[in-house]
Formats: sequence, structure tokens, C-alpha cells
Amino acid sequence: MKRREFLTRAGAGSLIAGSALSVSNLAKATPKYKWKMVTTWPKNFPGLGTAANLLAQQINEMSGGRMEVTVYGAKELVPAFEVFNAVSSGNAEMGHGAAYYWKGKSEAAQFFAAVPFGLNAQEMNGWLYHGGGMELWREIYDEFNLIPAAGGNTGVQMGGWFNREIKSLDDLKGLKMRIPGLGGEVLKRAGGTPVSLPGGEIYTSLQSGAIDATEWVGPYNDLAFGFYKVAKYYYYPGWHEPGTTLEAIINKKAFNSLPKDLQTIVMSACKVANQDMLAEYTARNNDALQTLVHKHKVNLKPFPDVVLKKLRTLSDEVLTELAAKDKHSAKVYASFKKFRDSVMQWHDISELAYYNARNL
Ligand code: CA
Repeated sequence: MKRREFLTRAGAGSLIAGSALSVSNLAKATPKYKWKMVTTWPKNFPGLGTAANLLAQQINEMSGGRMEVTVYGAKELVPAFEVFNAVSSGNAEMGHGAAYYWKGKSEAAQFFAAVPFGLNAQEMNGWLYHGGGMELWREIYDEFNLIPAAGGNTGVQMGGWFNREIKSLDDLKGLKMRIPGLGGEVLKRAGGTPVSLPGGEIYTSLQSGAIDATEWVGPYNDLAFGFYKVAKYYYYPGWHEPGTTLEAIINKKAFNSLPKDLQTIVMSACKVANQDMLAEYTARNNDALQTLVHKHKVNLKPFPDVVLKKLRTLSDEVLTELAAKDKHSAKVYASFKKFRDSVMQWHDISELAYYNARNL
């Protein structure tokens, strides 16, 4: 009796173990949805590329192997600035980049990445998730067969790398600078020439003199690209990108072909990547800054108040004029501005008052 009981239990046990194993093997061997994620970043680039990797990994694991998302760096499948087209056309199911790269498709897209003197990271998330921003973003991207999601945030960026001191607005005149989106429009008004370049092409352009100055992200990323070797002055703050949202874009048809639970997994994984990137930058930026200043002897400087005030005035002009000529931008800017005015009242007596108190 004991022996028979043992055999039965052993048999049942191995049957359960066997079937569990075969189900998991089957799922791993044949994912039902194999997606390509094209990105605007060099493969595995710290913070930006690794967020795309995390996003894919989260989807793959949360789906229990039913989905398999493979990440491609810039130029592996398509060049950085072809990501939008590749996902819009369905050649890739997903992309990871920044919305201001697509101003040629829709001027209004820029509001969902960064606005000069606009929202910081925390405020961008507030506007997108709970302030009506996401609905507008979806509306703008819908005509391109795309579903957007926030897929990362850098926090406040740095003002950029220069080979001359910036003492007045005149020092920006004639400057050829890599600076994307609305910040680039503001530089143009200050008499400079904005250039949009993917990250992977900035260093050689600065080294060769094809551009005079550049901004990229912040110390963690700027150290990785080695800009300190070709520019002397490192300015702050990043008035032009106060909390840049990176985006995940998903082909609408591909998304709609997923069952509801996988759709939820994809969108939730984007939220994980969005949060994790900001945490990574927050944790890593200062060590990198100290290395730049102490080891590489970078000349760290704040923009003078007089320069920032003028850039602020020019930024308001750029935004007002953009809203006057483009109806999508008008709608998005109205929502953005209303949110900014409101959140500033709250943050003046919370975040800002606390920063001030901490520095007393
Ligand atoms: Ca930037």
C-alpha cells in the first residue's frame, strides 16, 4: 500500500512537473508576438538605450514569453531619425526615442518631449498621466497610426558644452549648436543656428568644427560621450530641457492585435521604464559631474541671469507664435500652459520652498 501510494504520488508529481516544463518550453520556443523595437540611441547607451532594453525585458517577462520584443540600436535596422517612419509604417512594431525629433511630422509633438522653461520631470508626469496631456498626445499621433507612451525622463538637463564664455545673449550669435526641438527655435531667435543631430553623431561634429557647441543630456550621459575632450565650458541649467520625456511609440495595428492583458502589460512596462530612467539619472548624475569637474577639469558655469531672462522672453515668443500658426500646437500649448501655471503655484510653496529651506 505504501509502495503503491508512493508510486502514485511520484507519478502525479512528475506529470505535473513534466507538464509545467513543457508549457514553459513551448511558450519560450514560440512567442506569439515577435516585435522589433527600433531606437534613436546607440545600442545599450547608458540611461537612454538601457531604458529601451528594460522596457523590452519587462514586456517579455511579464508576458510569460508570449511576447518577444527585440531592441535595435540606431542604424541597426534604421537610422535614428527614421524610427518614427519605421513604426508608423509597421516595419517595426515599437520605437523608443524623443518626440521633438519629429517636429517635421507634427510641430505639436515637441510639447511631449521638452518645452523651454516648461515642466520638470515630476510635472511632465503629472500633466501626461493626470492633466490631460496623454489624451492630446494620442490624438496627435493617431493620424500616424501610432500610440505614444512616456518611456523615460532625464530630469533637468545641462545647458550644454561651449568653447566660448556666455556672458550675454550676443555670445550666442553666430553659434552653430546641436540643440533639438523648441530650444533650437529659441537659439535661432537669439541669433544662433540650431542643428538637430542624433546622439551618436555629436562628438565627431564637435571635434571637426562642423558645430561650435552642443547640448546632450546631463553629466552621466555627457561623460559617456567624452564631450569634455572637445569643449571647455559646461553650462547649467538646461533651460531648454527642464525634464525631457522620452517616448515609446507603438504601431496602432500591432497594439490592437494584442489581447487586452498584453496591451496592459505593454503600457505598464512603459510606465516602469519611465520611472526607472529618472531614478537612474538622479542616482548617477552627480558622480559623473564630480568626475568631469575634478578629473577632467571641466569649467562648470551657470548661465548669467541676464541671459536666462532673455531666453525666457524669446521662449514665450516662440511658443505664442507656434500656437498662432499651427492649430494642433495651439490646442496642446493651451493645455500645457494651463497646467504649468497651476502646478507652478503649488510647486512654489512645496518643491521650491523646500529646496530653499534645505539650502538655508
Ligand atoms: Ca538634450
